[in-house]
Amino acid sequence: MSSSMRFAVFNPATGERIGSALDGGADEARAAIDAACAAFPAWAASGAYERAAKLYRAYELVLSKRDELARLMTAEQGKPLKMAHSEVKYAADFLLWFAEEAKRVYGETIPSARADQRFLVRREPVGVVGAITPWNYPVSMITRKVAPALAAGCTIVLKPAETTPLCALAVFEIFAEAGVPNGVANVVTSSNPVPIGEVFCTDPRIRNISFTGSTEVGRKLYQRAAAQFKRVSLELGGHAPFIVFDDADPVHAAKGAAAVKFLNTGQACISPNRIFVQRSIAGPFLETLQKRVTAQRVGNGMDETSTVGPLFSQRALDKVDLQVQDAIARGAKLLAGGNRLVDGDLARGFFYAPTLLSEVTADMRIYREETFGPVAPVIVFDTEQEVLAMANDTGYGLASYVYTQNLSRAMRMFEGLQFGIVGINDINPTSAAAPFGGIKDSGLGREGARQGIEEYLETKLGGFSI
Ligand code: ADP
Repeated sequence: MSSSMRFAVFNPATGERIGSALDGGADEARAAIDAACAAFPAWAASGAYERAAKLYRAYELVLSKRDELARLMTAEQGKPLKMAHSEVKYAADFLLWFAEEAKRVYGETIPSARADQRFLVRREPVGVVGAITPWNYPVSMITRKVAPALAAGCTIVLKPAETTPLCALAVFEIFAEAGVPNGVANVVTSSNPVPIGEVFCTDPRIRNISFTGSTEVGRKLYQRAAAQFKRVSLELGGHAPFIVFDDADPVHAAKGAAAVKFLNTGQACISPNRIFVQRSIAGPFLETLQKRVTAQRVGNGMDETSTVGPLFSQRALDKVDLQVQDAIARGAKLLAGGNRLVDGDLARGFFYAPTLLSEVTADMRIYREETFGPVAPVIVFDTEQEVLAMANDTGYGLASYVYTQNLSRAMRMFEGLQFGIVGINDINPTSAAAPFGGIKDSGLGREGARQGIEEYLETKLGGFSI
């Protein structure tokens, strides 16, 4: 494919064309891997303090361009401006965190049984990384991969989502401005991810694939990458339970549920997908939740009064509506929303009404499938044992949430929930300092925290006879 071809980028709130990006293919991916390979030896050999300084400079630049990046994100991805600002800050946090972690890639000396032998363990960068990122967090998902890779001494080729290439290009411009040498951080934009994913899986020079996206695509990449025993980090889908026990304040819990459910229009892998409430407090909980759902202001994210933006595509809108209609047809009670919004300007974008469903049961699609939209399905339960079994009855294992004032119960749930992240009376258990990731169909590996850099490091043993 000729690199002069471009593809258009649209605003999901208005349908307007806001720009275009180069439509790269397999050739562009290979050329970027060539550049990353050429840059690798010098970058890997540069000192940790030098790499940290570049990441720290990128951190400062991201913060200095916070407003500009947030506006671009809202135009390209749709989220309300305030949330775009928060995301840019979150993205910057990874640059700062891994600038610091670069200096803490420690080795080890190990005593030997032989008096004349010494063991020395050294950590080395894995090599060139192939990264693929999604559209829902189009800036922070990039820094969450690039920062640890660069800190470890790896070079990287990143393919952003086809709907959000402009945010990616803006971030890579910042890496260049921060003094990251040519070839160290490369971006290949494309309207078609398949050939680039294939190059990442089959080119032996790519030693690590770091992917954030759907379970379905993650599984394919993992299978393809196995032939060359590449390291693989996968952040995939989720189906988060949100459990409210009757010893918690139902009003406080309902406010928390609404706050986290509608973040990013429900388009987050840690968004609550199944809200379980204990029977004796279901009344007040649902009453508050209903008020909070109907109080959401849906609109273009550039409008400061909007709390919920558009979905990112027609396909996303259709999937959400299908799940809602299926639930209603199978007996769920619709307490708010349940339809696409088409009044006035909303008709131009992919807007869906914030939706509340009660009496959701296990035979409904929404109970099993990941919901990537502004829909809150509520299920009433009776006992702790019952709700733990229901919460764990999913192939996914990313985030989970529990509201309880009983310390023993909180600990039992923390230990019993089969998820990589458990928020106890806490709707935001994420931070650059904390390990993010899932188990089972939600993926492999962790991002952020001291664990995040491990994905990009090999262990080398030296045995010295003296
Ligand atoms: P979603 O359904 O949430 O968009 P995807 O897994 O389809 O999730 O997309 C996440 C990222 O994966 C995007 O960058 C997308 O371009 C990329 N992607 C999708 N299909 C493939 C594929 N077959 N090979 C490689 N990357 C892919």
